[in-house]
Amino acid sequence: MRLARLDGSAFDAQIKATQLPSRSAAPEYMIEARDITGQIRAVAALRHMNDTLEQQVVARTRELAEQRSHAVQARAFVESLLEAVPNPLWWKDTDGRYLGYNGAFREMHGIAAADWLGRTTAEMVNSDFATISAKADLRAIAETGRVQFEAHLEVAAGKALDVVVNKTVWRGRDKRPEGVIGVMLDITDRKRMEAELRRLATTDVLTGAFNRRHFMELAGAEVDRARRHGRPLVALMLDIDHFKRVNDTYGHPVGDVAIKALSDTCAQVIRHEDVLGRLGGEEFAIVLTETDLDGALQVAERLRQAIAAIRIPVEAGTVAFTISIGTAERLETDSTIDAMLSRADMALYAAKRSGRNRVAVG
Ligand code: GH3
Ligand code: MG
Ligand code: MG
Repeated sequence: MRLARLDGSAFDAQIKATQLPSRSAAPEYMIEARDITGQIRAVAALRHMNDTLEQQVVARTRELAEQRSHAVQARAFVESLLEAVPNPLWWKDTDGRYLGYNGAFREMHGIAAADWLGRTTAEMVNSDFATISAKADLRAIAETGRVQFEAHLEVAAGKALDVVVNKTVWRGRDKRPEGVIGVMLDITDRKRMEAELRRLATTDVLTGAFNRRHFMELAGAEVDRARRHGRPLVALMLDIDHFKRVNDTYGHPVGDVAIKALSDTCAQVIRHEDVLGRLGGEEFAIVLTETDLDGALQVAERLRQAIAAIRIPVEAGTVAFTISIGTAERLETDSTIDAMLSRADMALYAAKRSGRNRVAVG
């Protein structure tokens, strides 16, 4: 009950009525009124506190759920991001064990999602690559944070790729390295194109022999090397005899076939360390490394005979041709290939004058 005091102020009262034993016919009661304002306030406060707590719990629960869904979303986003990267991409722990990789990586190696998890590179790919890769991981973790290297990688179905690998260390909250993230770029086509460009720039289209410029470069290097180490070296100059007649009689295309056959035969007779170049037209030069004049004369004679034995098929049968060869040994005074070639050229001229199809010493 709300009761009022004499001064008019109100309070919450708890009323207790107790029937008293009465001698008269009318019942008598004792009424107690207790001021419970404070108690009610306390209960209200408690109830309020309870409500607030409940609200907080609800709010916090919602928040946690949201956070969880944010985390799930962030994870899904990162996963899609990694899958969207067209380059093979992977991450490993500090022991070099795979923790994950994207679709391009799986496709490259022809593996399923869990195949390589927990494995190391050394267990899975060719050892040269694994060794370089492990060193790069260590360097990224211990020193630079980032490394890049080029390597040859054997992947699924025996395919071999030229690749550029970029590695970056990834760190945990305490900034300590947790592992390494790798990304790979397939440069096989670029490498092939570079090699093709190099080939086009250094070789002659018709014969595949080195062109004049590249021959001079390589031959010059061989002269330097021979000079430094005091080793013997011989230059040969070759020219087809009466080649104009071949062209005039059978046509230029047959002449071309003869030039190609000459070049192929030279390549077969000489060693891999020797240098063969087409200086122009039907004129070739050869540098025989680690060879003295006696040895060179034997090679030259073998060349002369092998080329004289070539038969080019034509409609009317076959065409044969011969060559003349001039040789020049490296002298103490020779500091360039030009000096040797000019002596070999003079010897070639002498071979021509004295009847062709022969070897002359300059
Ligand atoms: P020699 O015995 O004195 O060497 O006589 P030769 O007729 O061979 O004379 P020379 O070496 O001076 O002539 C080279 C000829 O080679 C001239 C040219 O028509 C021909 N020739 C040059 N380059 C090519 C080529 O790429 N293809 C063809 N088919 N002929 C070429
Ligand atoms: Mg000629
Ligand atoms: Mg000539």
